[in-house]
Amino acid sequence: MTQSSVQVRAGGSAGAPTDHSALADGGDARAARLDAELAALDTIEARLIAISDAIPGRIAFSTSLGIEDQAVLHAIAATGRAFDVFTLDTGRHFPETLETLEASVLRYKPAVRVVFPEASDVEALVARDGIMGFRQSIEARRACCHVRKVLPLNKALAGAAGWITGLRRDQSEGRSHVPFAAWDAAQGLVKLNPIADWSLETLEAYIAANRVPINSLHARGFPSIGCQPCTRAIRPGEDIRAGRWWWENEDGKECGLHNRPKPKEAHV
Ligand code: SF4
Repeated sequence: MTQSSVQVRAGGSAGAPTDHSALADGGDARAARLDAELAALDTIEARLIAISDAIPGRIAFSTSLGIEDQAVLHAIAATGRAFDVFTLDTGRHFPETLETLEASVLRYKPAVRVVFPEASDVEALVARDGIMGFRQSIEARRACCHVRKVLPLNKALAGAAGWITGLRRDQSEGRSHVPFAAWDAAQGLVKLNPIADWSLETLEAYIAANRVPINSLHARGFPSIGCQPCTRAIRPGEDIRAGRWWWENEDGKECGLHNRPKPKEAHV
Protein backbone atom coordinates (compact mmCIF):
# COMPACT_ATOMS: atom_id res chain seq x y z
CA MET A 1 0.00 0.00 0.00
CA THR A 2 1.40 3.35 -0.97
CA GLN A 3 1.37 6.33 1.30
CA SER A 4 0.41 9.49 -0.49
CA SER A 5 -0.12 12.95 0.81
CA VAL A 6 -3.73 13.91 1.37
CA GLN A 7 -4.51 16.95 -0.68
CA VAL A 8 -7.12 19.57 -0.11
CA ARG A 9 -9.23 20.18 -3.15
CA ALA A 10 -10.26 23.78 -3.60
CA GLY A 11 -13.92 24.55 -3.82
CA GLY A 12 -16.83 25.26 -1.55
CA SER A 13 -17.08 27.83 1.13
CA ALA A 14 -16.59 27.29 4.84
CA GLY A 15 -18.82 30.23 5.63
CA ALA A 16 -22.47 30.92 4.87
CA PRO A 17 -25.07 28.16 4.47
CA THR A 18 -25.44 26.85 0.94
CA ASP A 19 -28.61 26.77 -1.14
CA HIS A 20 -29.00 23.01 -1.47
CA SER A 21 -32.22 22.99 -3.52
CA ALA A 22 -30.49 22.13 -6.80
CA LEU A 23 -28.27 19.51 -5.16
CA ALA A 24 -31.26 17.86 -3.54
CA ASP A 25 -32.86 17.23 -6.92
CA GLY A 26 -32.30 13.53 -7.49
CA GLY A 27 -29.90 13.30 -4.56
CA ASP A 28 -31.71 10.37 -2.99
CA ALA A 29 -31.63 8.33 -6.18
CA ARG A 30 -27.98 9.07 -6.88
CA ALA A 31 -27.04 8.22 -3.30
CA ALA A 32 -28.98 4.95 -3.50
CA ARG A 33 -27.10 3.94 -6.66
CA LEU A 34 -23.79 4.78 -5.02
CA ASP A 35 -24.82 2.87 -1.90
CA ALA A 36 -25.32 -0.28 -3.99
CA GLU A 37 -22.05 0.30 -5.84
CA LEU A 38 -20.07 0.65 -2.61
CA ALA A 39 -21.68 -2.44 -1.11
CA ALA A 40 -20.32 -4.50 -3.99
CA LEU A 41 -16.72 -3.37 -3.44
CA ASP A 42 -14.45 -5.34 -1.13
CA THR A 43 -11.93 -2.82 0.11
CA ILE A 44 -12.12 0.59 1.69
CA GLU A 45 -9.63 1.92 -0.82
CA ALA A 46 -11.82 0.80 -3.73
CA ARG A 47 -14.83 2.38 -2.07
CA LEU A 48 -13.03 5.70 -1.58
CA ILE A 49 -11.94 5.74 -5.22
CA ALA A 50 -15.51 5.01 -6.30
CA ILE A 51 -16.71 7.86 -4.08
CA SER A 52 -14.13 10.19 -5.59
CA ASP A 53 -15.17 9.18 -9.11
CA ALA A 54 -18.90 9.46 -8.43
CA ILE A 55 -19.09 12.79 -6.63
CA PRO A 56 -17.99 15.99 -8.35
CA GLY A 57 -16.89 18.80 -6.08
CA ARG A 58 -15.40 18.84 -2.62
CA ILE A 59 -15.61 15.63 -0.60
CA ALA A 60 -15.01 16.25 3.09
CA PHE A 61 -13.82 13.74 5.65
CA SER A 62 -14.52 14.71 9.25
CA THR A 63 -12.21 12.81 11.56
CA SER A 64 -12.70 12.48 15.31
CA LEU A 65 -9.26 10.81 15.41
CA GLY A 66 -10.86 7.66 16.82
CA ILE A 67 -9.81 4.22 15.59
CA GLU A 68 -12.42 4.07 12.82
CA ASP A 69 -11.42 7.45 11.44
CA GLN A 70 -7.74 6.56 11.63
CA ALA A 71 -8.44 3.60 9.34
CA VAL A 72 -10.28 5.87 6.93
CA LEU A 73 -7.44 8.40 7.03
CA HIS A 74 -4.93 5.68 6.21
CA ALA A 75 -7.04 4.52 3.28
CA ILE A 76 -7.52 8.07 2.00
CA ALA A 77 -3.76 8.55 1.98
CA ALA A 78 -3.35 5.26 0.13
CA THR A 79 -5.71 6.31 -2.66
CA GLY A 80 -3.81 9.51 -3.43
CA ARG A 81 -7.17 11.16 -4.20
CA ALA A 82 -8.04 14.66 -3.03
CA PHE A 83 -10.26 14.81 0.03
CA ASP A 84 -10.88 17.71 2.39
CA VAL A 85 -9.77 16.27 5.74
CA PHE A 86 -10.79 18.19 8.84
CA THR A 87 -11.23 17.65 12.57
CA LEU A 88 -13.21 19.59 15.15
CA ASP A 89 -11.26 20.89 18.12
CA THR A 90 -13.90 21.36 20.80
CA GLY A 91 -11.37 22.72 23.28
CA ARG A 92 -12.15 19.81 25.62
CA HIS A 93 -10.18 16.98 24.01
CA PHE A 94 -7.94 14.52 25.86
CA PRO A 95 -4.23 15.28 25.38
CA GLU A 96 -3.97 11.79 23.87
CA THR A 97 -6.36 12.84 21.11
CA LEU A 98 -4.19 15.79 20.17
CA GLU A 99 -1.15 13.50 20.21
CA THR A 100 -3.00 11.27 17.75
CA LEU A 101 -3.53 14.24 15.46
CA GLU A 102 0.16 15.08 15.60
CA ALA A 103 1.18 11.46 14.93
CA SER A 104 -1.21 11.31 11.97
CA VAL A 105 0.14 14.47 10.40
CA LEU A 106 3.70 13.19 10.79
CA ARG A 107 2.80 9.79 9.31
CA TYR A 108 0.56 10.82 6.43
CA LYS A 109 1.47 14.47 5.86
CA PRO A 110 -2.19 15.31 5.32
CA ALA A 111 -3.52 18.83 5.23
CA VAL A 112 -5.86 18.40 8.19
CA ARG A 113 -7.97 21.46 8.78
CA VAL A 114 -8.49 22.01 12.49
CA VAL A 115 -11.88 23.66 12.89
CA PHE A 116 -12.65 25.55 16.08
CA PRO A 117 -15.92 26.85 17.54
CA GLU A 118 -16.58 30.56 17.50
CA ALA A 119 -14.94 32.04 20.58
CA SER A 120 -17.89 34.37 21.21
CA ASP A 121 -20.31 31.42 21.14
CA VAL A 122 -18.23 29.50 23.69
CA GLU A 123 -17.94 32.55 25.91
CA ALA A 124 -21.70 33.09 25.87
CA LEU A 125 -22.34 29.41 26.59
CA VAL A 126 -19.95 29.31 29.54
CA ALA A 127 -21.29 32.59 30.89
CA ARG A 128 -24.80 31.13 30.86
CA ASP A 129 -24.23 27.48 31.89
CA GLY A 130 -20.81 27.44 33.57
CA ILE A 131 -17.60 25.71 32.54
CA MET A 132 -19.05 22.25 33.34
CA GLY A 133 -22.66 23.16 32.64
CA PHE A 134 -23.14 20.23 30.26
CA ARG A 135 -23.62 17.96 33.28
CA GLN A 136 -26.63 19.86 34.57
CA SER A 137 -29.19 18.63 32.03
CA ILE A 138 -29.53 16.96 28.65
CA GLU A 139 -30.51 20.33 27.22
CA ALA A 140 -27.34 21.96 28.56
CA ARG A 141 -25.24 19.09 27.24
CA ARG A 142 -26.80 19.38 23.81
CA ALA A 143 -26.26 23.14 23.87
CA CYS A 144 -22.56 22.57 24.54
CA CYS A 145 -22.31 19.99 21.74
CA HIS A 146 -24.17 22.39 19.46
CA VAL A 147 -21.73 25.23 20.05
CA ARG A 148 -18.53 23.18 20.15
CA LYS A 149 -19.37 20.55 17.51
CA VAL A 150 -22.48 21.04 15.43
CA LEU A 151 -22.00 24.67 14.41
CA PRO A 152 -18.30 24.15 13.52
CA LEU A 153 -19.24 21.01 11.58
CA ASN A 154 -21.86 22.90 9.60
CA LYS A 155 -19.30 25.59 8.84
CA ALA A 156 -16.73 23.03 7.70
CA LEU A 157 -19.22 21.15 5.51
CA ALA A 158 -20.70 24.23 3.86
CA GLY A 159 -20.36 23.89 0.10
CA ALA A 160 -19.16 20.27 0.22
CA ALA A 161 -20.75 17.72 -2.12
CA GLY A 162 -19.88 14.66 -0.02
CA TRP A 163 -19.16 13.89 3.62
CA ILE A 164 -17.18 10.82 4.61
CA THR A 165 -17.43 9.40 8.13
CA GLY A 166 -16.11 6.34 9.96
CA LEU A 167 -19.51 5.20 11.26
CA ARG A 168 -19.96 1.45 11.67
CA ARG A 169 -23.21 -0.43 12.12
CA ASP A 170 -22.09 -2.46 15.10
CA GLN A 171 -20.95 0.56 17.12
CA SER A 172 -24.38 0.89 18.70
CA GLU A 173 -28.02 0.01 18.20
CA GLY A 174 -28.65 3.52 16.94
CA ARG A 175 -26.12 3.01 14.15
CA SER A 176 -27.21 -0.49 13.15
CA HIS A 177 -28.76 0.67 9.87
CA VAL A 178 -26.02 3.03 8.68
CA PRO A 179 -25.88 2.84 4.84
CA PHE A 180 -22.77 3.21 2.69
CA ALA A 181 -24.24 6.28 1.03
CA ALA A 182 -27.35 8.33 1.67
CA TRP A 183 -28.61 11.76 0.82
CA ASP A 184 -28.29 14.04 3.85
CA ALA A 185 -31.02 16.59 3.35
CA ALA A 186 -29.95 18.64 6.36
CA GLN A 187 -26.44 19.16 5.01
CA GLY A 188 -27.42 19.04 1.33
CA LEU A 189 -24.81 16.46 0.39
CA VAL A 190 -24.18 12.75 0.12
CA LYS A 191 -23.13 11.24 3.43
CA LEU A 192 -20.71 8.36 2.98
CA ASN A 193 -19.81 5.61 5.43
CA PRO A 194 -17.25 3.41 3.67
CA ILE A 195 -16.67 1.10 6.65
CA ALA A 196 -20.33 0.80 7.64
CA ASP A 197 -20.18 -3.00 7.38
CA TRP A 198 -16.88 -3.50 9.20
CA SER A 199 -16.83 -5.48 12.41
CA LEU A 200 -14.52 -4.46 15.23
CA GLU A 201 -12.34 -7.44 14.34
CA THR A 202 -12.04 -6.29 10.72
CA LEU A 203 -11.17 -2.79 11.86
CA GLU A 204 -8.53 -3.93 14.33
CA ALA A 205 -6.98 -6.26 11.75
CA TYR A 206 -6.73 -3.38 9.24
CA ILE A 207 -5.15 -1.13 11.86
CA ALA A 208 -2.62 -3.80 12.85
CA ALA A 209 -1.74 -4.82 9.29
CA ASN A 210 -1.04 -1.23 8.31
CA ARG A 211 0.44 -0.10 11.62
CA VAL A 212 -1.93 2.83 11.70
CA PRO A 213 -1.32 5.22 14.62
CA ILE A 214 -4.25 5.23 17.04
CA ASN A 215 -5.19 7.00 20.22
CA SER A 216 -3.45 5.33 23.20
CA LEU A 217 -6.73 5.58 25.16
CA HIS A 218 -8.20 2.77 23.07
CA ALA A 219 -5.89 0.33 24.89
CA ARG A 220 -7.09 1.68 28.24
CA GLY A 221 -10.78 0.90 27.90
CA PHE A 222 -11.93 3.76 25.68
CA PRO A 223 -13.41 2.29 22.47
CA SER A 224 -15.26 5.54 21.73
CA ILE A 225 -13.45 8.77 22.53
CA GLY A 226 -15.07 12.17 22.70
CA CYS A 227 -14.41 15.17 24.88
CA GLN A 228 -12.50 14.42 28.08
CA PRO A 229 -15.22 15.47 30.59
CA CYS A 230 -17.85 13.45 28.72
CA THR A 231 -15.99 10.19 28.11
CA ARG A 232 -15.05 7.40 30.53
CA ALA A 233 -13.54 3.96 30.08
CA ILE A 234 -16.04 1.14 29.76
CA ARG A 235 -16.20 -2.12 31.68
CA PRO A 236 -16.08 -5.56 30.04
CA GLY A 237 -19.42 -6.35 28.44
CA GLU A 238 -20.60 -2.76 28.25
CA ASP A 239 -21.79 -1.23 24.98
CA ILE A 240 -19.04 0.44 22.95
CA ARG A 241 -20.61 3.84 23.50
CA ALA A 242 -21.49 3.29 27.17
CA GLY A 243 -18.64 5.60 28.16
CA ARG A 244 -20.09 8.58 26.32
CA TRP A 245 -22.34 10.87 28.45
CA TRP A 246 -22.73 7.96 30.84
CA TRP A 247 -24.97 9.94 33.17
CA GLU A 248 -27.69 10.15 30.50
CA ASN A 249 -30.21 7.51 29.38
CA GLU A 250 -29.18 5.46 26.38
CA ASP A 251 -31.83 7.09 24.18
CA GLY A 252 -30.49 9.99 22.20
CA LYS A 253 -26.84 9.64 23.20
CA GLU A 254 -25.53 11.35 20.08
CA CYS A 255 -23.87 14.73 19.92
CA GLY A 256 -25.89 15.98 16.97
CA LEU A 257 -23.16 15.42 14.38
CA HIS A 258 -24.85 12.30 13.07
CA ASN A 259 -28.62 12.22 12.82
CA ARG A 260 -30.05 8.78 13.46
CA PRO A 261 -30.15 7.11 10.04
CA LYS A 262 -33.33 5.44 8.92
CA PRO A 263 -33.33 1.72 8.24
CA LYS A 264 -31.35 0.87 5.13
CA GLU A 265 -34.50 -0.19 3.31
CA ALA A 266 -35.62 3.42 3.30
CA HIS A 267 -32.67 4.39 1.11
CA VAL A 268 -33.04 1.79 -1.59
S1 SF4 B 1 -18.98 16.13 24.42
FE1 SF4 B 1 -19.22 17.29 26.37
S2 SF4 B 1 -17.62 18.91 26.43
FE2 SF4 B 1 -17.74 18.04 24.31
S3 SF4 B 1 -19.08 19.44 23.23
FE3 SF4 B 1 -20.42 17.79 23.98
S4 SF4 B 1 -21.12 18.41 26.05
FE4 SF4 B 1 -19.43 19.79 25.44
